[in-house]
Order: sequence, then structure tokens, then C-alpha cells
Amino acid sequence: MEQKQRARQIIEILHLTYPDAETTLDAVSAWELLVGAILASQCTDERVNKITPHLFAAYPSLDEMADADVGDIERIIRSCGIYRNKAKAIKGSAKIISKEHGGQVPRTREQLLELPGVGRKIANLILGDAFGGQAVVVDTHCARISRLLGMTAEKDPVKIERDLEAVLPSDSYTDWGHFMVFHGRSLCKARCRDCVACPLQQLCAYGSQQNLEGKKAGDCV
Ligand code: SF4
Repeated sequence: MEQKQRARQIIEILHLTYPDAETTLDAVSAWELLVGAILASQCTDERVNKITPHLFAAYPSLDEMADADVGDIERIIRSCGIYRNKAKAIKGSAKIISKEHGGQVPRTREQLLELPGVGRKIANLILGDAFGGQAVVVDTHCARISRLLGMTAEKDPVKIERDLEAVLPSDSYTDWGHFMVFHGRSLCKARCRDCVACPLQQLCAYGSQQNLEGKKAGDCV
């Protein structure tokens, strides 16, 4: 089957399987999402969502965050790991956004990438989830499952993003990242692929090659 056609079918199934797939970081603004995304590096979204209410209660505005004592930010975010770097990145980003972007999170990838602590993954997340654009967020779930599905053979996130953009419908880039996270947390876990229960099995490069005889839903393949 032609790759684009297969990708469209996979997307259709994923829409039905995960109709509510979206970012699991709590945020009411682009700034809050940016901070949440910085904190989420090597930390679960669940933990981040416990920390951010305290952080935004202490520093309700971006300008207050820009003026904050970095040690005070560190104390609040300590439990999410690599907190010194993250505190520096949050304060540094707030300062740049305040001074250079009129207090508004910038809307281009190039400008987002100039913020401390912001790499391509976070920039794409902001473009897609805060500004309604289309950008593939290539995290570990996305990289791993996209490879299993046969959508890419690459390991480098930028190359994976390029491969996905070549086959996915252009209005599905943002959804794809969400679908991969939801699928990676439910049926296609890193340590246990439930290919028998997976609705993508027939379309999946890995799943379609497995001998599932005698296997049942819930078994790891
Ligand atoms: S068929 Fe298996 S490997 Fe493929 S996406 Fe589904 S669970 Fe993952």
C-alpha cells in the first residue's frame, strides 16, 4: 500500500481510538504551556501539573517570573528534576519574551528556539498546541512508534519529523504527536506492545509481521 494512503488510514483509526488526544500538560496560555514543557523534560506531565499551580501562584505574570529570584523558582520546581537548569531556562525565557517580544510568547519556530531550554520538540509543541499550527512533536513515544509503524527508519528527531511530514496529511502533524503519546501509554508501550489488541496491527510494519497465533489481548509481543 502506498505510504500516504496507509498514513491516512492509520490517522483515521487513531482519531476513532483516541478522540480526545491532546497535550496532558495543564496550561491556560502559551506562556504556561511553555513553562510546563520546560519542566516536563525528564519528568512526567502528572508531576509537572502538580508543580505549575504553585509556580504560577507565586509568579502570576511573565514579568514577575522574569524578575523572580532564580533560587526561589528552584525551590518550587525542585521535585521535577534538573531543577537548576529548568529554573534558569524559565526565568531566562521570561526575560527574553518580556524584553524582545512585548511579553507575548513568539509564534515562529526560529524565535522559540532562541529561548533558553527550548529545543525543537518544545517549539513544535507550542506552535501546535498553543497557536493551533501544525507541527510534529517527536518525543520518545513518537520516535519509537513511528518506527514500528514503518513511517520512518530514522533515529534523529529532525529526520523523523521530515519523514513524517512527507507522508502524513498536513493537517495531522499536531494530532500525530498526541496520538503517539496516547498510544505509547496504552497499547504500544516501550516494554510491552499489545499488538493483538492494537487497532493498527494490520497496518503496522512491526505488528503485521508478528506471528500472533496463540497470543491474546494483553500479551506482550
Ligand atoms: S501493532 Fe504492535 S507495534 Fe504496531 S502500533 Fe500496534 S502495538 Fe505497536
